[in-house]
Amino acid sequence: MAKKLIQLGARPPIVSQLCHLTRKQSIAFFKTVQGKAPKQGMLPHDHQWAIRSAFNNIHASLFLSMIEDIRQRLCAPNLNATLLVAAYEIYSNVTSRILADRQFIQPRSGQHYPLDINRAWYLISLLSAGDLVFMVCGRCRARYLGMIHPDVSFSQCPICEVWTDRSGRRRWVSAKSKKLTLNKPSAR
Ligand SMILES: [Zn+2]
Repeated sequence: MAKKLIQLGARPPIVSQLCHLTRKQSIAFFKTVQGKAPKQGMLPHDHQWAIRSAFNNIHASLFLSMIEDIRQRLCAPNLNATLLVAAYEIYSNVTSRILADRQFIQPRSGQHYPLDINRAWYLISLLSAGDLVFMVCGRCRARYLGMIHPDVSFSQCPICEVWTDRSGRRRWVSAKSKKLTLNKPSAR
């Protein structure tokens, strides 16, 4: 399972935690599997990543929906390596099809999915803590993530409460209205 996690891009601290290995063991194992030393520095910790854009929100919602559905079917409330690997594999399969079918959703790099497994692991903790919550859109019925946090409360459907700018990026409706308000004085 540690090998599988590393192949999917998981960094040593996550492998240590989920597979009950020491830090040293995880780093050594990482070097064997990936053929290079792991990236240094902090793990992803931006708690607002899922609401920074409609694009991020779609990917976070897809992945966390997998986690929730698998948890419910298996009656497995706790996060373990098997659950993370299963959900991330389904997410990456679905995402590669979306990326292949729709040109307007472009991955930042051909090799990486928009939601990296390390960030995915962090998002699970936000869902468990209740910072991220599932909403169902009243219009399109999509299940998406909203945020309830002391810093920010946010809930907009990433499918229908968006508009597309000239470069083809999907932007939140709220960002649009803010932009319109800002533009008004100069337009007159
Ligand atoms: Zn909607």
